[in-house]
Amino acid sequence: MIKADLHTHTIFSKDSLSRVGDVIDAAAKAGLSAIAITDHDSIEGALEAQRVARRRNLPLQVILGEEVRTDKGDLLVYFVKKRIAPGKLGGVLAEAKRQGAVCCAAHPYDFARHGIALGKLPAPLLAKIGCVEVFNARVPMPSQNARAMAFALRNRLALLAGSDAHHPSEVGAAYVEFYGVSALDAASLVGAHRKIGGKSSSPFVRFYSRYAVLRKKLAGLFRPRGMD
Ligand SMILES: [Zn+2]
Repeated sequence: MIKADLHTHTIFSKDSLSRVGDVIDAAAKAGLSAIAITDHDSIEGALEAQRVARRRNLPLQVILGEEVRTDKGDLLVYFVKKRIAPGKLGGVLAEAKRQGAVCCAAHPYDFARHGIALGKLPAPLLAKIGCVEVFNARVPMPSQNARAMAFALRNRLALLAGSDAHHPSEVGAAYVEFYGVSALDAASLVGAHRKIGGKSSSPFVRFYSRYAVLRKKLAGLFRPRGMD
């Protein structure tokens, strides 16, 4: 069985201060056997996390992921080979396919955080999204996860879940247990038998990301000239 948190952020996201090493430690502590690092429009943190896990010889699979901003909302991509630039959803899906990556609608009914309105997507675009994040530990209202779950079941899409951790203490708050596999790949991420688990994070965790944005802005303002 593989226990995986499929949505986490590091300092390589503009709204997180989590050091990569701390995220990896938190994953091990939470008993995860796999973690997807899904920074906003970046795979730097994921690449670094792979190096850290390897260096520390941890029994933790680090999946190269990214949370890509598109014109229709946020799309999680897994097993990417290269960073995918933000842009139109159609173009992002095409690039993900070229790379053999798995696509997942992130917190689809949380429109305040750029969820994709799955019900309004043209069928050809929806057909290219294999998975739905049906449990995101950070959604402000549980009904948003419930709607995501109902949509995924109705449309026979694969169910995924993640903490959306922007602070190491949130890692593992939501997870998927995959059965009958010893490591995840693009096929088993979509096809393996699974169980979703976790609990909603306290609403206060959102202050972590606001604080991170503010601190990074201030750091930019006060950076001495010539240091960029
Ligand atoms: Zn996220």
